[in-house]
Amino acid sequence: MLLGGKVAIVTGSTSGIGLGIATRLAEAGADIMFNGFGSPAEIDALQSKLARELRVRVAFSGADMSKAAEVTGMVEQAVRELGHVDILINNAGIQHTASVEDFPADRWDAILAINLSSNFHAIRVALPHMRKRNWGRIINIASAHGLVASEHKAAYVAAKHGVLGLTKVVALETARTGITCNAICPGWVLTPLVQKQIDDLAGRERITGEVARERLLLAKQPSGEFATPEQIGALAAFLCSDAAAQIRGAALSVDGGWTAQ
Ligand code: NAD
Repeated sequence: MLLGGKVAIVTGSTSGIGLGIATRLAEAGADIMFNGFGSPAEIDALQSKLARELRVRVAFSGADMSKAAEVTGMVEQAVRELGHVDILINNAGIQHTASVEDFPADRWDAILAINLSSNFHAIRVALPHMRKRNWGRIINIASAHGLVASEHKAAYVAAKHGVLGLTKVVALETARTGITCNAICPGWVLTPLVQKQIDDLAGRERITGEVARERLLLAKQPSGEFATPEQIGALAAFLCSDAAAQIRGAALSVDGGWTAQ
């Protein structure tokens, strides 16, 4: 197994892209620390499915990524319960859309905390564990919005551009080690985070969900197709392989051509 014996923390893995990544890493043999919100019954079901079907060890942290102490506590819990930390996927994220003048300050603070600062807090405490074993993979889930902007997304775009900056610094500081740090920049992926934007568009424009979905997709993504959590998971697994050992500080797009324009 490619990742047999490795321990991966995947933040925000109770849904969407994070769940796709956690599943793919577990398929490759990694033990998984789940994190995120959701009903205890659903989270239990996710964990036992993975443990039963893929025969990996699983743990769960309900740490709130907006709180630094909980983020660092999650990393310590992974070391305590699963033995070490080899792979850190900073994926948890939220969205809020409004013009800059109307952007609620508390939404700005929350998006910066969850989408950017949590990456720093987790990396800061996970890195020493990786250095001890001279092997590690840090993958930050940024966005096409880490590379280009869209209106009404000031906090999200600022946070995701910040994630790419952080990724480059960590890659340089670990360049002479067996630890790599990279970012994945998805375009539209049909998850609850995007479904909400489709629903908002449908309500605002008084159009059907189907029309809103096509409109949202085609406005940005030339392929006209969503990327999938499975595709993002497959790229994350590749970045964890030996073949990717010299990919460092990169921002890898999975965006149907969004940022080629
Ligand atoms: P999602 O809403 O399906 O999942 C988000 C996950 O983060 C959930 O597990 C949720 O419980 C968790 N989460 C939210 N707030 C949290 C908090 N404070 N503490 C801990 N966990 C928290 O969203 P998604 O689309 O899968 O997004 C995952 C990541 O991918 C985000 O960083 C997002 O910005 C990024 N992304 C998504 C898209 C897309 O089109 N869906 C595109 C580019 C980037």
